[in-house]
Amino acid sequence: MQYIIILFINFLFCQEAIYFNGQRAKDLIDYQCSFGPRYPGSKGHQQFADSLKVFLDRLVDMNIVYQDTIFSPISNKKVQITNMLARFNPRASNRIMFLAHWDTREFADKDENIDFRKRPVLGANDGASGVSVLMTLAEMLSDNPPINIGVDLLFLDAEDMGTYGDPDSWGLGTKSFSKHLKKPYPRYAVCLDMIADKDQEFLIEGFSYRYAPDIVRKVWNLANDLGYNQFKYVLGQSIIDDHYVLFKNTGIPSIDIIDFQYPNSSKNYWHTIEDTPDKCSAKSLEAVGTVIATLIYNEDK
Ligand SMILES: [Zn+2]
Repeated sequence: MQYIIILFINFLFCQEAIYFNGQRAKDLIDYQCSFGPRYPGSKGHQQFADSLKVFLDRLVDMNIVYQDTIFSPISNKKVQITNMLARFNPRASNRIMFLAHWDTREFADKDENIDFRKRPVLGANDGASGVSVLMTLAEMLSDNPPINIGVDLLFLDAEDMGTYGDPDSWGLGTKSFSKHLKKPYPRYAVCLDMIADKDQEFLIEGFSYRYAPDIVRKVWNLANDLGYNQFKYVLGQSIIDDHYVLFKNTGIPSIDIIDFQYPNSSKNYWHTIEDTPDKCSAKSLEAVGTVIATLIYNEDK
């Protein structure tokens, strides 16, 4: 009898995972970093934008490119930025959205070594990691398109040109994009940022919990059902990221999956020249990618 009960409980709580290729995502981090730093105004920025457009045009039902000229708080210059909205099933009114920023930070201003603080960040984890999962999802969704729902993959520019202590100077790509987004809006949005850390641990980001607690619960419960207990039921700090800017400008309930301790509490690669592909892990990408892919196909049932 006891055996049957355990089986029943397992049946209730076990989710069938959708396969996600973490190594493919890791290769796509390497690919992005092969363009060099990708901050607005840099050669790598222009070249990767062109390459991403070709990549998405081939895979998705509709890829909309939004360009804008904005003022960069970090460099005090006017720069051209490019957001891309890659849509599957564009006519569906029942939609969900996933977003990540593809730009990288112009200055490694958190580097321990003062001589390196004027150098650009390569952005393997801070930038390329979230984008690598979105690009892999684009390939998966192209092979197995959603039927009942629409899926939007939003590739954002100009997240990372802010100045510390000024919340309005971050997520400028999202701010620009939000002006163009037409209804019907997605039901919710999930932002992926700094997700490839080898020492992976996701606390619940503060704004996500405040503005979209149901979505946090849905994603964290799914992750834990799939066995990814690195999604901790612990409230972490509030972080101004694209999900916050999207929510503030559109009202779309948005959460952030972010591992802000990179790699851990005693060492920091964030906004340093150490943010390189060797710090990123295919296994970590596989965990996040599996959660998101399973979420998408669950919603499509
Ligand atoms: Zn950053």
